[in-house]
Amino acid sequence: MKRKWGQHFLVRERYVQRMIELAGVQAGEQVLEIGPGRGVLTRALLEMGAFVKAVEIDPSLQGFLQQEFAGSTQFQLLCGDVLKLPIEELLPSSQPARIVANLPYNVATAIFFHLLPWREYWDSWTLMVQYEVAQRICATAEGGKSFGTLSLAGSLGFERKLAFEVPPDAFAPPPKVNSAVVHLWPRKSGWSKEEEQNFLEFVRRLFQQRRKTLIGNLKQQFPNWFQQERESLEEQYLKLRPENLEFEDWCKLYERFRERGRAFH
Ligand code: SAM
Repeated sequence: MKRKWGQHFLVRERYVQRMIELAGVQAGEQVLEIGPGRGVLTRALLEMGAFVKAVEIDPSLQGFLQQEFAGSTQFQLLCGDVLKLPIEELLPSSQPARIVANLPYNVATAIFFHLLPWREYWDSWTLMVQYEVAQRICATAEGGKSFGTLSLAGSLGFERKLAFEVPPDAFAPPPKVNSAVVHLWPRKSGWSKEEEQNFLEFVRRLFQQRRKTLIGNLKQQFPNWFQQERESLEEQYLKLRPENLEFEDWCKLYERFRERGRAFH
């Protein structure tokens, strides 16, 4: 087991089946699998008749997978770090397509943000992640401390469902934390990729000190804009913290910033 690559392999078949059923994969569909490991999900996906493109970073597992699925014309292995491969290699060449993956927990959030701008290439994303990360992806402003940049990225890009929990003993070796599977349906935000990135940067900066009020964060992060609009911002947001604003309120605040503030200064 290589800790740096978050290797916890699913060993309870029941969870493999639940994940595949939830994903709704049909024969002939394309699936991107990130981190196939020893191929437990891969095998089930191939048995469903899917075309699986799998990305694995660990050279010893790459060798194992090449051998294991050598006879399958529906299997393609991409060797390398999913965060570093050219994006074109990951994108499907036909529709429908899905992502199904038990993500390496240490880079699950990075992978989520990395693929977010390209999300609509896939009809659904079914991801196993650490339970807290699943909660954060699916949280609304009622989610208290789970609610943050990851939740707003989730709202921006998807219809979301935290589908089920998975206990540590479903894996070998067992992780120290619980896991969960989220099912995500990509949707358009109405903004360009660049605008979405700017929105998320805006949110990230205002969540940097989440225990401070939103006004305090605005003052610190965007002093010029804050000074220009101080009165009306204070009137509208006084006493609110970043986690009290729902996605729609964040969009309104960002659009106001974009119209009047223009730059991140
Ligand atoms: N899918 C397998 C399963 O469910 O048993 C393995 C899941 S394990 C949690 C994560 C897998 O992702 C490991 O095989 C690991 O080597 C691989 N991995 C870790 N970081 C990666 C990266 N940056 N790019 C591609 N694969 C990665």
